[in-house]
Amino acid sequence: MVLLYSDPRLLLHETGDHPECAQRLRQVTQLLKSTGADVTCTQPAWKAASVEQLQRVHRPGHLAGLENLAARGGGLVDRDTIVAPRSFEIAALAAGAVSDAVERVMAGDSHRALCLVRPPGHHALADRAMGFCLINHAAVGAQAAIDIGACRVLVVDWDVHHGNGTQAIFYDDSRVGYFSVHRWPFYPGTGTVEETGAGEGLGATRNLPLEFGTTRAVYRDNFVRELEDFAARIRPEIVLVSAGFDGHRADPIGSLGLEVEDFQWLTATTVQVANAYAEGRIVSTLEGGYNPPVLAECVAVHLAALQGD
Ligand SMILES: [Zn+2]
Repeated sequence: MVLLYSDPRLLLHETGDHPECAQRLRQVTQLLKSTGADVTCTQPAWKAASVEQLQRVHRPGHLAGLENLAARGGGLVDRDTIVAPRSFEIAALAAGAVSDAVERVMAGDSHRALCLVRPPGHHALADRAMGFCLINHAAVGAQAAIDIGACRVLVVDWDVHHGNGTQAIFYDDSRVGYFSVHRWPFYPGTGTVEETGAGEGLGATRNLPLEFGTTRAVYRDNFVRELEDFAARIRPEIVLVSAGFDGHRADPIGSLGLEVEDFQWLTATTVQVANAYAEGRIVSTLEGGYNPPVLAECVAVHLAALQGD
């Protein structure tokens, strides 16, 4: 059974009429409940990531800054990144979901996990929040896998934006391969094919930038070819997915012309890679997706494909 991480406290990162709003998760959980998909999963209880866990990927000053801003009542950390009074504890809870999922999947409790968390994380750098992201949950999860003994981890990021934070955190680390397909040129501006890693991490970053207007067939052809090639190089023991659904054609801030069924296909393709190298182990974490009803449909097909072989 897939491990499904979901908690109403994740709604308490209060952002008002911001696109990254609590309604996103509300619609997802309502749809999974109405179809009965939630009860086909195991729903573990988990704890927030500890400061020690967060410090494995983030600088102490960054974490203290977020915590202090939240304690003072919150505010903006950049033009579009909000810290609300409870945001630090909620972001730590989200990161804790991913690290708990990684521990359980590595221990063999289940092969698959889906963390329905917010805010997203993949833009968060070691020392800076940006792009709606406070703590980099996927990075915390990848580091947790390394810390419990994995030698090679693959992060697959199909959010429409490049995950600059995840790339930067592991840029010189050969143990964590980072693969991103994203719209380009686009926010945040990083993610060219020339960015391939540095030092011991050279070759462990692979970017697949695609222009707006790329057809779905070309998107798929490029994704499967590049991912299979990269996975053969990394040979991961576990696959983490930064599952953003803002590449859907109806997304108000992203869009790369994708349809709901493309996210089923992306998931099934990633499952095949995990089956080939990682005994099927996948931990997926929610990143973007800002059209709540569309996001809910995309997450539903993603979960269904994670349940398949
Ligand atoms: Zn995004």
